[in-house]
Amino acid sequence: MSDTIGRREFLQSVAAVAAAARVAGQTPAANEWGSQVLDIHLHPRATVEGNLLHVDGSGVTKAVLLTGAAAEDRARQSVAAYPTRFARFASTDMTQPNAIDYLRKAAQGGAIGFGEIKSQVAAAGPEMQRLYALAAGMNLPVTIHFQEVNQPNSPGTFNTGLKQFDAMLKKFPKTTFIGHADAFWANVSADYAEDTSYPKGPIKPGGVTDKFLAEFPNLYADMSANSANNFLNRDPEFAAAFLLRHQNKLMFGSDCSCADGHGAGGRGASAGRCIARATLTDLKRLAPPDVFRKIVWENGTRLLKL
Ligand SMILES: [Zn+2]
Ligand SMILES: [Zn+2]
Repeated sequence: MSDTIGRREFLQSVAAVAAAARVAGQTPAANEWGSQVLDIHLHPRATVEGNLLHVDGSGVTKAVLLTGAAAEDRARQSVAAYPTRFARFASTDMTQPNAIDYLRKAAQGGAIGFGEIKSQVAAAGPEMQRLYALAAGMNLPVTIHFQEVNQPNSPGTFNTGLKQFDAMLKKFPKTTFIGHADAFWANVSADYAEDTSYPKGPIKPGGVTDKFLAEFPNLYADMSANSANNFLNRDPEFAAAFLLRHQNKLMFGSDCSCADGHGAGGRGASAGRCIARATLTDLKRLAPPDVFRKIVWENGTRLLKL
């Protein structure tokens, strides 16, 4: 009898400790992916709990919240409440006259990188070059959304001219660039004609994204969103070799809009599925375990000094 009570008390105390750990937002050491996971591309939800719901649901250990001024306070609150679960970047529209001042202050206030930068300018334009200089001076990375084709979910074009971006990679060797979005991933293929966002079918080797990653130590890749997921799935044999080739420069991200890490309430590419789960599943299938671990945890935590 006393044994039974003892055991029940023990189990209750275990449950209480586990609940306390969840409340404190402590880092889960291992999870369903067989590795800790860093999501380098998550946009803040309406509440701190909403952010936690997505990382817990998708099996993510820690997420970098990417935000502009509108949600900066929410990102800051998430980092303050759960410092082992969240970090944050700062972003703004680079065409605004106060953009550089805003970003410098945000970094001084705790942002550990700039992004995602999604501005309707040329990637080599003067507004962006001022940012690259700031990032080099503060030793913080810049995540750039490269988009050459108008999309219903993302109207306009942003940070255009990836095919000539080697000029910036050369001109700013001390700036750490993280490439993201449809033009970045479509340009793994040498035949990308900038006429569609998510090209299908076999990849033609020799695209600028592949070349720049090989040639420039200051370029990294953000494997988030439908753009990276489409790349992984259009030519899996090519993708598997690409993951091996650039295993020290690729970082998992989700850019997922679903609520719960299981696809509820997602929009666009996340409609009916969690893009974090989809891409983690693809990476696990295509990469050997040590490379998977680099892409989903080690590369990002090293680069961002987490
Ligand atoms: Zn983006
Ligand atoms: Zn999701």
